[in-house]
Amino acid sequence: MVCALCNEDSDSHQHLFFACNYAKQFWNRVCLKIGYIGENGNETVRRYTGMEQGNTITSIIRRLSIAASVYLIWRERNCRLFKEERRSVEELFELFCDTIKLRLASLKAKPSMAVIKAQEEWKVQMLVGVCDPNKKELYLALQRFIVGIISSEFGRIGVV
Ligand SMILES: [Zn+2]
Repeated sequence: MVCALCNEDSDSHQHLFFACNYAKQFWNRVCLKIGYIGENGNETVRRYTGMEQGNTITSIIRRLSIAASVYLIWRERNCRLFKEERRSVEELFELFCDTIKLRLASLKAKPSMAVIKAQEEWKVQMLVGVCDPNKKELYLALQRFIVGIISSEFGRIGVV
């Protein structure tokens, strides 16, 4: 059976996740988004299963992203085979971003520069800090203040 994503090679797990041209283009978009620049899906998954640990927001987002990517590639294959639905790489990437955003929106995170930056990058509001409404207001105000500083700082040194 030929791969439903690229129609170029035979359908196998190895092909689907690592060699398929469609999947490769998708992984490239994901790697760029999560900061694994110049990697492919193969390297990224190896990194994920090996050394990417920890509870910093960056490593959580990376783990979520890789799990979501594997799931979405698999789902796209099945949609094409069984439902005759097809998405372009760009459409699948949009779906990926929505999936991660949705997950982040329900994540409770301690306020930190990394969390604020992640919120900016993914254009999402996480449940930052504790649930006391007064404190939440305080955190939000603090966040807005810090975001202002970060934006001007990053703008100045050219890192976004
Ligand atoms: Zn393929």
